[in-house]
Amino acid sequence: MNKRVVILGGGESGVGAAVLAKAKGLDVLVSDIGKISDKYKNALQEYKIDFEEEKHSKELILSSDEVIKSPGIPDKTPLIVELSEKGIPVISEIEFAGRYTKAKMICITGSNGKTTTTLMLYHMLKKAGLNVGLAGNVGESLAWQVAEKKFDHYVVELSSFQLDGMYRFKADIAILLNITPDHLDRYDYKMQNYVDSKFRITQNLTESDAFVYCQDDEIIGKEMKNWNSMAQLFPFSVKEELKNGGYLENELLTIDCNEYKISMDKKDLSLQGIHNVYNSLASGIAGSVLRIKKDVIRESLSDFQGVMHRLEKVVKVRGIQFINDSKATNINSTWYALESMEEPVVWIVGGVDKGNDYSILFDLVDEKVKGIVCLGVDNAKIHEAFDGKVETIVDADSMEKAVQLSYEIANKDEIVLLSPACASFDLFKSYEDRGDQFKDEVRNL
Ligand code: ADP
Repeated sequence: MNKRVVILGGGESGVGAAVLAKAKGLDVLVSDIGKISDKYKNALQEYKIDFEEEKHSKELILSSDEVIKSPGIPDKTPLIVELSEKGIPVISEIEFAGRYTKAKMICITGSNGKTTTTLMLYHMLKKAGLNVGLAGNVGESLAWQVAEKKFDHYVVELSSFQLDGMYRFKADIAILLNITPDHLDRYDYKMQNYVDSKFRITQNLTESDAFVYCQDDEIIGKEMKNWNSMAQLFPFSVKEELKNGGYLENELLTIDCNEYKISMDKKDLSLQGIHNVYNSLASGIAGSVLRIKKDVIRESLSDFQGVMHRLEKVVKVRGIQFINDSKATNINSTWYALESMEEPVVWIVGGVDKGNDYSILFDLVDEKVKGIVCLGVDNAKIHEAFDGKVETIVDADSMEKAVQLSYEIANKDEIVLLSPACASFDLFKSYEDRGDQFKDEVRNL
């Protein structure tokens, strides 16, 4: 009898897994408790894959041999608990896809900077002429590409939720950018659980694989003391010179991986800000490990166009530069945004607070921020933190109003920065919607 797999969730990763499972001759059922979008329903029909929506047929699910779960479904969901109690393996789409490909996997995780670094590396590998696919949280499902394309490299963005469903999967190059508290609701509010999840990116690394990590990150540093692996280690830092890895010294980036040495002026990086120095060092190290030509590594770090909603320069109006950093949904990414600002800032902040400690920003706000526009349904915490600490602090309940107010407060040669440090769901559909509305309103000024 064929192996029976059930796939929970009919989005990009679930449908991709279904396509691969079908191609490998498995019996497949896709089950989604919500509605499946037309795009994916059409694909399922085209591939003749069984599916159900707006329900889970428990009997079918609990009698399957294996379950592939969308990363959006928490482990504590009763159905998942029941599956574990019955001993039915529950894995992620990435784990499943990894079984059917020998392609080299360059995997990126971290609390912030994953998408930027993933796209930066993808850009580099393409420029180097490698046959490379883009997968994970960005791009198309890895499983779908494994089923239908013949890439021999993949650059894969991994969230902690995907890592939680990974057991045998092996990266060839694993990159860990940073770890700051996030998503703790899914980790029993225990930081160590979240740290362990991020470190799963290193599981199964062999002595011919590389682990690239941020040496300056306190949490990673602490964890590395109790960590054992056969992998080659390539740390990066902006604070100290490192022998095998990457560092910044006197405005010069230096990467040295097993005698493959590259230097580059910081000012030549296309993405500015210290966080992007980290992202560029991590990408440069991965490029060196792959022995990509030095001029291609340098060129790709200096002409990478960046990613929408991440410190994206919109336009200048009356000499005021508007910057969209809507993707900054936690304090840490906003810290880096403010840190990289070189003119006085009117800062648009607010939304759904995930437990922010604003005191981390006090010094930067004191140094760089002249005015604050609070954009959220409940702005009390922001007022509590910043009232009296800046010249002006006002409230807005729509993007139109926030842009108007910030435009009134800012002067020529100053910056209006949308970097909310909060999720967007109180006033917007998503961070993309928030960023798009910002750009529309700015262009209407
Ligand atoms: P992720 O995919 O991990 O959410 P993104 O690349 O989408 O990360 O960036 C999210 C936010 O974090 C943006 O506001 C961006 O400016 C900021 N950011 C990017 N790289 C880093 C980094 N290395 N450290 C801290 N913040 C970063």
